[in-house]
Amino acid sequence: MAPLYPLRFVPLLRRYIWGGRRLATILHKDIGSRQPCAESWEICDHRDDQSVVAHGPLAAEKTTLHQLVAERNRELLGRHAGLERFPLLLKFLDAADRLSVQVHPNDAQAMRMGLADPGKSEAWVVIAAEPQSRIYAGLKAGVDRATLAWAITRRRCEHYLHVITPRVGDCIYLPSGTVHALGGGVLVAEIQQSSDTTFRLFDWNRVDSQGRSRPLHVGPGLAVARYDLGPVFPQQPIPAGPPGIVRLIRGSRFCLDRWHLAQPDPARPLQCGGDDRCHLVTVLQGAIRLQGDPAGSPLGTGGTALLPAGIGPVLVNPLGETILLDAYLP
Ligand SMILES: [Zn+2]
Repeated sequence: MAPLYPLRFVPLLRRYIWGGRRLATILHKDIGSRQPCAESWEICDHRDDQSVVAHGPLAAEKTTLHQLVAERNRELLGRHAGLERFPLLLKFLDAADRLSVQVHPNDAQAMRMGLADPGKSEAWVVIAAEPQSRIYAGLKAGVDRATLAWAITRRRCEHYLHVITPRVGDCIYLPSGTVHALGGGVLVAEIQQSSDTTFRLFDWNRVDSQGRSRPLHVGPGLAVARYDLGPVFPQQPIPAGPPGIVRLIRGSRFCLDRWHLAQPDPARPLQCGGDDRCHLVTVLQGAIRLQGDPAGSPLGTGGTALLPAGIGPVLVNPLGETILLDAYLP
């Protein structure tokens, strides 16, 4: 079998009504000329939703991420070999309108509830926001289960949520059990456990053109919400070794670093990977060249690559000032 290489995938676009145009204008996604687009799934192995390799020999065979997990498990996952599907989902979301207030179970709760998917922890990194944009992250201090239940029945949930005015670069970490909602006008990169276990607690009293509201899952949502967490604030970045690299999250389900790179420094070449882990690299600003990438073009703003564990450290060459995220399993 041919060796693996830095893998880029065909983005999976999702056209929900709350989407906007910034996946095209800021992240260079090909979303067509008129319609709004809500999400671009960059790395995904979730049942029928499959990332397909876009460049190199594996693209000719339309290889999916799930095939790679099934057939090249050790090469892809390194020390995490044995997983039966790729555990992380990386996407961009452009929320022109606010999303529902929701909460996700943890792995043990999802299993106890008999859900097909694991639990879900997730995180957002803000790429763009409007002055009036808000992110709802956690409950206000002292809000307990009874208070939240009362607020939902009274349709006054928002008064009990902790509100953040997001700034570009903010990283909001939402471990399973954190009540949260993405507000309107926010464009984020989202890293999450690959899972479809969402309990909708509140939908802002919205109805569709026929006067119907979307279903809520208040019982299970209240059961898995964590009342001990309180308000969630943006993560404090911690220096992570080489200059320009900071750790945003060191979680039990994923880790996330941010690289802020200036011009390439030939005296100190930067490498990603080489730790027997698979790495997800996504460019938020600028462009890079990755050693061994068979695509003819640099990986530009909005581009994502998966570096299989088995290919070892990969040289990262920034073409001018660049900001990227590096996500990996703990
Ligand atoms: Zn969520």
